[in-house]
Amino acid sequence: MAAPGLPYDDRDGWIWMDGKMWPWREAKVHVMSHGLHYGGSVFEGERMYDGQIFKVKEHSERLVNSGNLLDMPLPYTADELNQHSYEVLEANKISNGYVRPLAWRGPEAMGIPAQACKTHVAIACWEWPKYFFPKSGDNAGLALKTSKWRRCDPRTMPVQAKCAGIYGVGTLAKHEADRAGFDDALMLDVHGRVAESSGANLFVVKDGMIKTPVPECFLNGITRQTVIKLARDLGYTVEETVIMPDDLKNVQEIFLTGTAAEIAPVSKIDDAVNLPIGPVTERLKSAYADLVRLKAKAA
Ligand code: PMP
Repeated sequence: MAAPGLPYDDRDGWIWMDGKMWPWREAKVHVMSHGLHYGGSVFEGERMYDGQIFKVKEHSERLVNSGNLLDMPLPYTADELNQHSYEVLEANKISNGYVRPLAWRGPEAMGIPAQACKTHVAIACWEWPKYFFPKSGDNAGLALKTSKWRRCDPRTMPVQAKCAGIYGVGTLAKHEADRAGFDDALMLDVHGRVAESSGANLFVVKDGMIKTPVPECFLNGITRQTVIKLARDLGYTVEETVIMPDDLKNVQEIFLTGTAAEIAPVSKIDDAVNLPIGPVTERLKSAYADLVRLKAKAA
């Protein structure tokens, strides 16, 4: 396992890129790549548990769809991407960790139009046990700060594309929260409704019912969809609805979901909301942990 904190180009291992496996340190792109200048890149974040990538089909399909939404068709099918992802796991001898497929526009043309650019694809994987490290301690819930930055109008960007260009605002929001001593940002959408955090979807529990915002202005996460189904299978009522910032003052539990974050309890929003980690969050956390491992066992 690479030492935590090592720069991502100063590691050993293998990265699959454009049809072949490269030594990690040699998997490079040219500085004149269109994707770097104009945000033309899409990516995925996947977790593998005991050698199986959870929801690999959904992730590969989303990557292909993200490319299409950016008018940047990928030169590989979702099935081919699945296969190459497993080749990367095999080459790196990793069975629990994170997989990062990435597609970007190459350096064949400069300027806004990108029709002449080739779409390049790479897949890397590494061990990444935990995404969040709450400032109040490993077992604490997260503290979120409402960001001044908002999720954009779906008429401004194709919000269901997991596109690098959209992440600039997430990074700004995360920095803002971090500087103020919080763990992450609570992001509202363009209409002022609760949307999500900088990199995970949000759920609340109110009077035994689970609610989550409608994914109109933000990514409809694969974990979000999994948790909605899981909660319904466990007998909870789950409602996709409008949640306003003030509504958060009247809920009993809040948690985030995402591939990297899995299910992460939230204990604090600004100075307005303080919550313990509640029983519904704990139950879903444990059911989700069972689900990802069960899927790995059955494969
Ligand atoms: N929103 C954003 C902005 C994200 O980056 C992620 C992580 N990909 C999510 C939501 C959750 O998506 P998923 O459950 O598919 O990982």
